[in-house]
Amino acid sequence: MRNAAPVWDLVEARKAPLIALSDAVWAVPELNFTEFRSVALHADALRAEGFRVTPAVGGLPTAVMGEAGEGGPVIAFLGEYDALPGLSQEAGLTRHQPVPGDGNGHACGHNLLGSASLLAATAVKDWLAATGTPGRVRYYGCPAEEGGAGKGFMVRAGVFDDVDAAISWHPYAFATVFPPAALANIRLDFTFTGRAAHAAAAPHLGRSALDAAELMNVGVNYLREHMLPSSRIHYAYQDAGGAAPNVVQSRTVIRYTVRAAELDDMLALAQRVRRVAEGAALMTETTVTCQVVSGMANLLGNPPLEAAMQANLERLGPPPFDESDRAFARDMQATFNPEDIAAALRQVGLPADTDRPLCDAILPYPSPAGPILLGSTDVGDVSWVVPTVQALGATCAIGTTLHSWQMTAQGKSSVAHKGMVHVAKVMAATATDILSDPALLDRAKRDHADRLRRQPYVSPMPPDTHPPIQACP
Ligand SMILES: [Zn+2]
Repeated sequence: MRNAAPVWDLVEARKAPLIALSDAVWAVPELNFTEFRSVALHADALRAEGFRVTPAVGGLPTAVMGEAGEGGPVIAFLGEYDALPGLSQEAGLTRHQPVPGDGNGHACGHNLLGSASLLAATAVKDWLAATGTPGRVRYYGCPAEEGGAGKGFMVRAGVFDDVDAAISWHPYAFATVFPPAALANIRLDFTFTGRAAHAAAAPHLGRSALDAAELMNVGVNYLREHMLPSSRIHYAYQDAGGAAPNVVQSRTVIRYTVRAAELDDMLALAQRVRRVAEGAALMTETTVTCQVVSGMANLLGNPPLEAAMQANLERLGPPPFDESDRAFARDMQATFNPEDIAAALRQVGLPADTDRPLCDAILPYPSPAGPILLGSTDVGDVSWVVPTVQALGATCAIGTTLHSWQMTAQGKSSVAHKGMVHVAKVMAATATDILSDPALLDRAKRDHADRLRRQPYVSPMPPDTHPPIQACP
């Protein structure tokens, strides 16, 4: 912690080009494994800052790694830059107005995520050089977080094997430590194959793949009563078999997402879902195959690193939002459902009727209200191979739903820029704590090793699951 103030000055000194990077990535929203322009912008920024750059790290064309420093421990900052489909939105507007184009938008704030991590890495690089401290800092640009499990494939390729500690963050409405409460998940495509027939002239000759999928859903809906309450199962038809009701559908594809708080519980639940699919195939005289699309492990906590990060948050205080930021956030809140604002406040233990447009305090950690659950993240897989700590950065109005047009709208705002710089300071100071305090790193590693002794890591993706990587257009 004694090094925090100098590294905060270095974050301030380097922030302008990295804010510009975030805005440039916001303007080219790209989906899973097609982030070619975004990764090129990150690689250019790494070279401009003097990092040694490895393109396509882990065999993923839209991943990149930059390293600086010599000897010592290796600290990794994880960044992302993928966007979402259907969530395009003009920046700064408080009404829904998509931008003309392909419809993609940065509705999870990953333009900020990559740029703030790179800003923190840059400040730590400069701090290593200024202090002569042995150590290496790396920035990993990781593709396809939104359901693509990019980091899971990078873990499988071994790109984090020599890393001592990993640091990352995610945009949110409050600045706090990211609690280890992300669920393990797996995406499974079930393909049912039956026999087509004329639905009126020869229904007895048909074997319906669509019936099989519907019976599978019924079976899984009964299964829900007999699973852990923290587990989740969702499904969506990828191919319902065709639009004609007078044909017995011979092929249906349905995608399931199975989630659980622990990796082994998730794998066991996925196995039960597979058995339900087999039962549905038996009932309908169809066949079924199951393909793993992607998988993510749950997030492992690391109390020593979380305590170090919380201490830095408390020393730094909340982001320096001003009256015009609060006015913008209030206008944005007027577009939310009041329940969303109340739920966001309650989730962090604040009274639901507080008039509070933006994060204005550092909350206690661990939260007395319990951990904030944000679904799943592929940082989970990294946390099983490297002691990992994450922050949540305050980059949007309280009540903003991730994956909404409002999130896209705030992605280039003064609120987002201040929140990004703030979280970069939190992450950079945590890194310099680790680099200057061998006992802290030792405690973090022992905590991690203890967890792995209790339950070893198994990649949720079998070896025949490959990333759907694309050629650069
Ligand atoms: Zn996200």
